[in-house]
Amino acid sequence: MLDIKVTKTTTPKEKPQGPLGFGKIFTDHMFMMNYTEGMGWHDPRVVPFQDISLSPACVVFHYGQEMFEGMKAYRGENGETYLFRPFKNAARANQSNKRLCIPELPEDIFVEGVKAVVEVDKDWIPTEPGTSLYIRPFIIATDAFLGVAPSKTYLYMVILSPSGAYYSEGLAPVGIWIEDDYVRAVKGGIGFTKTGGNYVASLAAQVKAHDGGFSQVLWLDGVERRYIEEVGAMNIFFKIDGKVVTPMLNGSILPGVTRDSVLTLLKSWGIPCEERRISVDELLEAQKNGKLEEVFGTGTAAVISPVGKLRYKDEIMTIGDGGIGPVSQKLYDTITGIQTGKLADPFDWRVEV
Ligand SMILES: *Cc1c(COP(=O)(O)O)cnc(C)c1O
Repeated sequence: MLDIKVTKTTTPKEKPQGPLGFGKIFTDHMFMMNYTEGMGWHDPRVVPFQDISLSPACVVFHYGQEMFEGMKAYRGENGETYLFRPFKNAARANQSNKRLCIPELPEDIFVEGVKAVVEVDKDWIPTEPGTSLYIRPFIIATDAFLGVAPSKTYLYMVILSPSGAYYSEGLAPVGIWIEDDYVRAVKGGIGFTKTGGNYVASLAAQVKAHDGGFSQVLWLDGVERRYIEEVGAMNIFFKIDGKVVTPMLNGSILPGVTRDSVLTLLKSWGIPCEERRISVDELLEAQKNGKLEEVFGTGTAAVISPVGKLRYKDEIMTIGDGGIGPVSQKLYDTITGIQTGKLADPFDWRVEV
């Protein structure tokens, strides 16, 4: 057990009333812990949410040496506080850390830091259906040094944001723009890590998609621009002729916790599914033959996000009848049911704080 020092705020904020949106409101506290070469991780603490002071020369500002995670806390029907598969996030954080030359953060420390601040701010967990407390753990490189080298000091922090449904449309299907010019990642790069660099690489296409009236970008592979990768912050699934397919983990896409949960559930229901390469031509063909039955994105923020239409160059593919498919709906109901304690938890995914 970590010896975590807790300093509570003397000026608690008003809890938000009305729509929460996503990632705009922050709770009263945050977790912090430092890393110093030679000392390791030290000084775990919960402190009032506040601005932090850093040298303008910090490595993170210039070379982007940082990683983040995204997870949620849910309120159970009898007031319990639940996390969903937090050790998966801890393990993935270290996969990112390794690639980004950030020192490993022991998995139990990652999770204890999350639990400590969630415990202090648990009254901030919203209770309306579809809402949750979004958790953002992250590590930044803090050496004040302009040379290009891994930092020797870091800060691990966890901040919390009460959040409504991720999409303003709710579970309503979204329109997705298949980007055929910009690329997000290539094999051997950092596509499988959760790091700011992947997101800044995606902004220009995101702006383009928005200007075209679409809410998200679907990336193609960085070499041939032919094979499906993933959506901005979601993995992607297609139900084609009764079978569910998703791109295999190839090194350039993010190994989503929700993706893994969806594959586990589909297998347990006996629905055939495959992880493999999927070309955009295969989708166009399936849609032409009326076999593209459902398309949905998976990610912590939205859980399951049904896709109603896909744009590729001059083609617009409308999916199914434009509504929410039965597999998408069942996955959403099951995962959110497990997360909030309404359903049994056969895979031991829920962790009580
Ligand atoms: C976080 C993220 C996902 C989804 O991962 P989850 O663990 O399911 O939240 C998918 N793609 C990208 C690029 C991401 O950053």
